[in-house]
Amino acid sequence: MANRFEGKVAIVTGGNSGIGEATGRQFAAEGAKTVLMARREEQGRAVAESIRASGGEATFIRCDVSDCDSVEAAIAAAVETHGRIDVLFNNAGAGARGNFPDESNEDWDRVIGVNLTGTFYVSRAAWPHLVAAGGGAVVQMSSLAAQRGFSSRMQDEYGTAASSYYAAKAGIDALTRYMAGVGGRHNIRVNCVRPGQILTPMAAGGTINDPDGGHHVFEKMFDFHQIVQGPGYPQDVANLVAFLASDDARFISGEIVNIDGGVAAKI
Ligand code: NAP
Repeated sequence: MANRFEGKVAIVTGGNSGIGEATGRQFAAEGAKTVLMARREEQGRAVAESIRASGGEATFIRCDVSDCDSVEAAIAAAVETHGRIDVLFNNAGAGARGNFPDESNEDWDRVIGVNLTGTFYVSRAAWPHLVAAGGGAVVQMSSLAAQRGFSSRMQDEYGTAASSYYAAKAGIDALTRYMAGVGGRHNIRVNCVRPGQILTPMAAGGTINDPDGGHHVFEKMFDFHQIVQGPGYPQDVANLVAFLASDDARFISGEIVNIDGGVAAKI
């Protein structure tokens, strides 16, 4: 196993589950002091403990990324413990059910709050520490929803996430390019990953509207839409995020990389 993050401090939001958990494990396996942040403490502490049990370095700090005070306290606590931040993976996110125009203000605010505003709050709080470390890498979490739409027939057959999710993730794409520009002079690279369907609790549990349950629809979707056969797994995304966050990607910034089994390449 490569040791690309030896001596580095890596923060992963949404690090207690799914893609964030897999990426936290990857960072730690490659030598990072890994800080997992999310709201469910028991789950977060269990993941950190299991990383430590396999020889990695990890801690969990409770953080609600949509709450500015919570974010600032969590970043301050991480810096107090480790003294620096080198890598930030802004992964925390949530979807909502509901099809436009039947979407509530509450769902809109919550989904924009976690995905887009949360990415902004965490990035803003971590930024001075990345600058102070002499540079670093930020990876953001978008979604194929930011890039692709759907037809009425697809909506009927598979359902869709709410419009707030599409809008929030597209905002993250734009924020990525903006932050990359600002990061240039500070040696901070900012990139973004855009997954299609990845088999995690969020996807299998169904941000997708279907009476048969999300998992069933999920399988139908990747069978129909992907070029690569079978589901994407959290580790697939973790491998890409670790690459983008490492010096192997030293000449890449402002990029949004699809990881979708080829969905976006199709008609
Ligand atoms: P997941 O296992 O449900 O993970 C979501 C993570 O976000 C959890 O760790 C959750 O922890 C955290 N989170 C949610 N709200 C939060 C808040 N307010 N503050 C802090 N953390 C919060 O699902 P996942 O699929 O791995 O999702 C991870 C990211 O990938 C999301 O941004 C999602 O939009 C994106 N994505 C997933 C897919 C897919 O197919 N799975 C596709 C495209 C994009 P707590 O609930 O404990 O806070």
